Amino acid sequence: TRTPLIAGNWKMNLDHLQAVAFVQKLHWTLKDAKHDDDSVEVAVFPPFTDLRTVQTLLDADKIPFALGAQDVSAHDAGAYTGEISGAFLAKLDNRYVIIGHSERRQYHAETDEVVAAKVQAALRHGLAPVICVGETSEDLEKYGASAVPVGQLEVALEGVTADADIVVAYEPVWAIGSGQAATPEQAQDVCAKLRAVVAERLGEDAAARTRVLYGGSVKAANIASFMREPDVDGALVGGASLVVDEFAAIIRYQK
Ligand code: 13P
Repeated sequence: TRTPLIAGNWKMNLDHLQAVAFVQKLHWTLKDAKHDDDSVEVAVFPPFTDLRTVQTLLDADKIPFALGAQDVSAHDAGAYTGEISGAFLAKLDNRYVIIGHSERRQYHAETDEVVAAKVQAALRHGLAPVICVGETSEDLEKYGASAVPVGQLEVALEGVTADADIVVAYEPVWAIGSGQAATPEQAQDVCAKLRAVVAERLGEDAAARTRVLYGGSVKAANIASFMREPDVDGALVGGASLVVDEFAAIIRYQK
């Protein structure tokens, strides 16, 4: 059985001061609602400049959220201006790192090969990569929903070993920030195919253990419908993860 994972990708929102207020308010909102912390894992993915501050807050106030970064360099150290090493992220108690988000692929020309190199970098430093895959609306018309994300995941998993701690996130590009989420059936179909890729590449045990998330216009009103699907183990939430009450309601989707 897989612990559901509700992950908030803040993208380029909330500076380190806003981050403190947000995380404290989210924590107290869940506490006031007597939320069972063990029922679902919560992870937040703030901008790099917030990570040290959020780490300190989670630690000091014993807040049970996991921390993740939004990207990592494929390199460990050296002359790579502007890049962030996985070694630095590991030292800040990051458990996760998002890799291959469609915004990185689109605006920073990240190829499947770059994504694969970043997955290796994350694993070298004990970070669990949240490997993002998904088709654009053009891909959807040309190839259907699953061909592109399946191909992206196959490349990303090259060199990954059976015991690796990874998360897969299916994020159809047309559903991101559009208000037009995939249907639960569409999400289930592709998430099942992605799990089959994990099974084929890393074995059945890894496939049974690995969380496959859906992302793209997830909100409090639709989360439960995704979570009812057998191969959807959680959500990668963008816009709705920036609103305390909305994100708390997503975390408390069973209620
Ligand atoms: P939205 O939830 O804003 O559609 O963004 C999804 C996403 O890109 C999360 O990584």
